[in-house]
Amino acid sequence: MTTRLRSFATALLLLVTAGFTGGPVPVDWVMVARIREEGLQHSQVMDYESYMTDVLGARLTLSQDMQRAQTWLQGTMKQIGLVNVVAEPFMDYGVTWDNEYVSLHMLTPDYQPMLGYPIAYTRGTDGLQVAEAVIVDLQVRGDLEKYRGTLRGKAVLVSPPVPIDMAPLYNGTPRRNQAELDSLQRVVVVPTRPAPPRPARNPDLLSAEEKLAFYQAEGVAAVLQCESGWLGAVRGFSRPGARTDGWSRAGMLASPVVIAITPEHYNRMYRILKRNIPVTVEINVRIRIGEATEQAMNVIGEIPGTDLKDQVVMLGAHFDTWHASPNASDNTSGVAVALEAIRILKAVGAKPRRTIRVALWGGEEQGLFGSRAYVRQHFGNPYDSTVGAKPGYEKLSVYFNQDYGPGQYQGIYLQGDEQARSMLTAWMEPFSDFGMTVVSNQSVGSTDHVSFDEVGLPGFQFLQDRAPGTGGHTNLDFFDTIQGDDMKKNAVVMASYVYHAAMADTRLPRKAIN
Ligand SMILES: [Zn+2]
Repeated sequence: MTTRLRSFATALLLLVTAGFTGGPVPVDWVMVARIREEGLQHSQVMDYESYMTDVLGARLTLSQDMQRAQTWLQGTMKQIGLVNVVAEPFMDYGVTWDNEYVSLHMLTPDYQPMLGYPIAYTRGTDGLQVAEAVIVDLQVRGDLEKYRGTLRGKAVLVSPPVPIDMAPLYNGTPRRNQAELDSLQRVVVVPTRPAPPRPARNPDLLSAEEKLAFYQAEGVAAVLQCESGWLGAVRGFSRPGARTDGWSRAGMLASPVVIAITPEHYNRMYRILKRNIPVTVEINVRIRIGEATEQAMNVIGEIPGTDLKDQVVMLGAHFDTWHASPNASDNTSGVAVALEAIRILKAVGAKPRRTIRVALWGGEEQGLFGSRAYVRQHFGNPYDSTVGAKPGYEKLSVYFNQDYGPGQYQGIYLQGDEQARSMLTAWMEPFSDFGMTVVSNQSVGSTDHVSFDEVGLPGFQFLQDRAPGTGGHTNLDFFDTIQGDDMKKNAVVMASYVYHAAMADTRLPRKAIN
């Protein structure tokens, strides 16, 4: 063997690791180089991120904002060169809900503009309202009589004051250190803590729905609340009962105006009222509520495969967001990475063996509705006899998802699919210079890969670094805190994983589900 040949052989040995069948897992270094070149030198990821956050903005599931954004998304996928681009309905969701305007001020005893947002699926005010603020502490049925007949026209403060959590301000957002990364890799049996015994539910306790119904019946001007001690942040989600009434127009119109406020503004009013000094507020909220039930959508597009084109490799992210900001991190960053990854693959002229399909979901924030419905419809569930496996079940190799913020990938979670380790590890090798080194056996949850994982299909999340300044689910989640270099690298890694999965001799091995 010549020296040159020997070094070539050594290099080759370094480039492959044992595959799940015992054979080597190849890495296509030529394609990796082209993906890196396209993704690092000609990236469009921050252009996607900017358009979505700056121009399109928040995308609450089944809002007109979301519908407009999904039209843009389909156009962008076609521009990238994807085929079979479609907005695929997944359920009769409800009526559209859009917050068009909020104005909120304390007028007395001292003027202060306040920051707040209506929670989703509530109604607006009848124009500009000036109201006296009062504290209401409604817990059990017996409390109702205390307040009955006293709240008409009042702005009611319904939650206790919230201590502001100063720890993040002192500590910042520490990046994951090596010890943490090592432990993610090493800890293969995650200790389970026994769930604390749940106290028996007090039948006298009022539910959130019952409280809202009472405020509405009493004719309050608005319900004001604060449920988060995050300085400057409005955290407010969805009207209690919205899911039960199917996001209906009747349910929205039967709701009082409910506004979540930043803790520092809310607490100030609360403390003044506790001194028995009157507080007046001015509120104007405009909400546009749709007339008829409409379907919510997932948006799908493909690069067709070649010799294995009936098999599929998927990547994706949820496109829907909460409504108080453009949600640059959660999950516009995941969408931008998915779009950029598939753009890179088109740009480098990839001719994948398996079809590559990108799915940008709706209804994730309300409970993984879009991805679950998609998996059920296209792949089925062999572990649930009422659903059964669809022909597509055997055709899917793997789904890769991003939804843990915009931080840089540092590894991947195996999700307990130990047999996938060799492939997922081999494909990581070209990105060790990115700091992508960790393969953790641990399982993670809370987003759309779960919809695949729970029916026995390989679905993975990358292990991501923490990113400072992002405010997922709040009014603080804007373009400016997203680190472009991290996003570029993530798209490169995503593109390369998807490509290698699409070219592999076998599907990704699946874990057994009991
Ligand atoms: Zn998310």
